[in-house]
Amino acid sequence: MSPVPSSSDRAHVLIAGGGFGGVETMLALRALAPERVRVTLVSDSPSFAYKPAATMEAFFETPPLAYDLQAIATDVGASFRRDRVEAVAAEAHSARLASFAHLHYDALVLAVGARAASAIPGALTFRDQHETHHIRHLMSELRSGTLRRIIFAVPSGCSWPLPLYELALLTATRLGELDVSGEVMLVSHETTPLCLFGAEASPLVANLLAERGVRFIGGSDPQSVDRSGALALASGETLDADRVVAAPKLGGPKIAGLPADRRGFITTDALGSVIGLPDVYAVGDMTSFPIKQGGLAAQQADVIAQRLAFDQGATVAQPRARRVLRARLVGGANPVFLRTELDELGQATAATTLHGHFNDSESNTPPEKVFGRYLSPYLRARAPQVA
Ligand SMILES: Cc1cc2nc3c(=O)[nH]c(=O)nc-3n(C[C@H](O)[C@H](O)[C@H](O)COP(=O)(O)OP(=O)(O)OC[C@H]3O[C@@H](n4cnc5c(N)ncnc54)[C@H](O)[C@@H]3O)c2cc1C
Repeated sequence: MSPVPSSSDRAHVLIAGGGFGGVETMLALRALAPERVRVTLVSDSPSFAYKPAATMEAFFETPPLAYDLQAIATDVGASFRRDRVEAVAAEAHSARLASFAHLHYDALVLAVGARAASAIPGALTFRDQHETHHIRHLMSELRSGTLRRIIFAVPSGCSWPLPLYELALLTATRLGELDVSGEVMLVSHETTPLCLFGAEASPLVANLLAERGVRFIGGSDPQSVDRSGALALASGETLDADRVVAAPKLGGPKIAGLPADRRGFITTDALGSVIGLPDVYAVGDMTSFPIKQGGLAAQQADVIAQRLAFDQGATVAQPRARRVLRARLVGGANPVFLRTELDELGQATAATTLHGHFNDSESNTPPEKVFGRYLSPYLRARAPQVA
């Protein structure tokens, strides 16, 4: 281990974005190189929004789960600045913010997430915690009998289908509890349910859907909703529905100075370096990795933090890209844990499925749906923000 630098000589790590990727990077740097780097977090929101809680929040009337970024930054000895990164001048090692300030960095970690847009014209797009009131309204229409048949739709190109499965399961469960008749369908481009977790996971998820009476129609690419409410499929067929709720399509961020693919995503090497830009790294939903998931964002963040800690002389293990996809699927009688490893193209290489140990009442508490090496234990000990 090389000597610890004086505080003025510490490398300045600028992190853009206070979501799963950005917060895990901060926590990992504190753990791996506590006195070797100086960290500034810039985020355009004062809160770290725990988006995966959105599906449950729609049904349990709980406020949006979020954490205060200033408080997290204070805990880890970082500076927090509420602002937006708008341009990167990589050669000059400088980022321009919306306030027109320029911040110099030694290393820049971009974790600004993706932009979610409607994928199926005419459908209600469920993006995140901002749409929970639509689901509550839809439930009240089902209760009153105004609606009967509801379709949850997963179009091709969807980078994280799990929320639509949860919404379908939670809707069917609630209808059963209220003894209200209604028809819940899940229409997906996937050939078998949640096949991104590998062949072993699909029968388990299929059983769960069947148990709750959710009809799964796979291998069908939903395209648009017509005036009568019917869902048109790529095959030319249509499915009658009173409402269609769809997953969004994601696009990359708009930050000047970054090379992007045709959908705006940023390509990195296996260890998180943005191709062609010195000392610039990217993690999470903004990258071109096909599956966009908080747990993957956290793993990418850990690898980058290890690299940065190593570069600053800390004794750390050799960084190695691992992509373990873990999820806690809620909506059935008990949460189900799904796990697989992914190759560099995002294909499942091995699957293990586990039944959860949580009971129903516990599944209604702030959910631990994202697995981050440093984030999970940290959030367990930190109180969420009060809405
Ligand atoms: C309904 C739903 C359910 C989900 N369920 C799960 C689940 O069960 N498990 C799981 O692992 N994942 C789940 N995900 C996916 C997970 O939420 C995302 O993959 C994760 O949020 C990505 O993390 P990120 O850090 O890349 O981006 P984000 O979490 O989106 O954070 C990006 C941050 O950057 C800020 N920002 C944006 N632009 C700028 C800018 N220019 N400058 C500065 N700051 C900026 C934003 O305000 C935000 O704070 C779910 C997502 C949704 C919507």
